[in-house]
Amino acid sequence: AKQDGRNCFGYFSPDMNNNMLARITLEQSLRSAVLQHEFCLHYQPIVDTSSGEGIALEALLRWRHPQRGLVPPDEFIPIAEETGLIEPIGEWVIQQALRDLRQWHNQGIMINMAINVSGRQLAHGDPSHFACMLNGLLQKYDVAPQYIHIEITESMLMADTELSLAALTAIRHLGVEIYLDDFGTGYSSLSYLKQFPISVIKIDKSFVDNMLEDRADANLIKAIITMGQSLDMRLVAEGVESEPQRSFLQGLGCDFVQGYLVAKPMPVSELEPLLQRIVRV
Ligand code: C2E
Ligand code: CA
Ligand code: CA
Ligand code: CA
Repeated sequence: AKQDGRNCFGYFSPDMNNNMLARITLEQSLRSAVLQHEFCLHYQPIVDTSSGEGIALEALLRWRHPQRGLVPPDEFIPIAEETGLIEPIGEWVIQQALRDLRQWHNQGIMINMAINVSGRQLAHGDPSHFACMLNGLLQKYDVAPQYIHIEITESMLMADTELSLAALTAIRHLGVEIYLDDFGTGYSSLSYLKQFPISVIKIDKSFVDNMLEDRADANLIKAIITMGQSLDMRLVAEGVESEPQRSFLQGLGCDFVQGYLVAKPMPVSELEPLLQRIVRV
């Protein structure tokens, strides 16, 4: 038994070692990315399901890694959250999104901006900390709060109800709307959702993917739309890639769609011609 003792401290296989090393390396290069300004934002439009009119742009974070090229957020946001680096990164995202929005508003393109925020950002400091920071940046870039939407995930709401409620209420009081992202993946109930100041529900792509072939997914989407409508919330379907999907969602009364059918997320330089086309000036 004594010989087995060392196992209590964890036995490091070469594989685990490599894994840890990879994480530490990632964390270090993420730290330097913050200092070296290696991040950029791509934008994807959210449009009216029937008219195709552009309603909002969702800001999606990208990391321009000097060796690895453009790194998608799923590969570094979890580490950024664990290490707390999501706070400076998240603040940069808001600044950059507001800077870009200011430019479009100057050109008379009065679109809204949806910004993703992770739970860790809301949980930092007291419940009004995030709202105060956001308010300061809205003033700095002279953007009216009704143009900004904060996207939070359903799982985040469920992680800490009391704190989420306080933080979201403070944001809503600024005049900023809250979007509930990835809806359908977290098993929250109608009565549960009702207590949060949510304006818009985003139906997760995983339901949209199979809704034309899979009756269960179609029924789920119908139920989500009916539920959203009964709570006076509007609905966005994400990951809409085909015209049949769009028209099916239109038939169900889904207000907005987002996905490759309309446009992939793209850098500012590619976005501007599209904006001229889909946004009424
Ligand atoms: P999300 O908020 O659910 O964003 C939607 C994701 O679906 C984006 O991936 C987008 O590129 C992708 N997408 C949109 N339409 C389609 C489609 O028609 N087909 C397919 N196959 N994919 C589509 P992306 O940009 O890789 O972002 C992944 C996730 O990273 C986001 O999921 C969000 O949770 C997170 N994220 C992105 N930017 C930020 C940020 O600034 N802060 C935080 N905290 N999280 C972010
Ligand atoms: Ca989102
Ligand atoms: Ca989403
Ligand atoms: Ca998603």
